[in-house]
Amino acid sequence: MANIGRPKKIQIDPEQPTWICYNCGMKYGSFKVGTATWHTDTCGVCGETKTCTEPRDFGYLLLGWKEKYGRYTKEINEDSSKSS
Ligand SMILES: [Zn+2]
Repeated sequence: MANIGRPKKIQIDPEQPTWICYNCGMKYGSFKVGTATWHTDTCGVCGETKTCTEPRDFGYLLLGWKEKYGRYTKEINEDSSKSS
């Protein structure tokens, strides 16, 4: 399969959230946001209600964003319940 219009170096995750906030986009996106249409919504990465836009505006999220974010939240939630 050909990756039409995408540089090979950048690994885009096939799973993208619907909306993403500025902070998460800057952390996990493949480039800095340029023109974007912002609105208040639930960020698909951090889950907070923030000013969000489409992952596309950050060049889509890089492969492994979930793992990176998961590692980050684990540290925060280390003493809260780990109920499954
Ligand atoms: Zn976020």
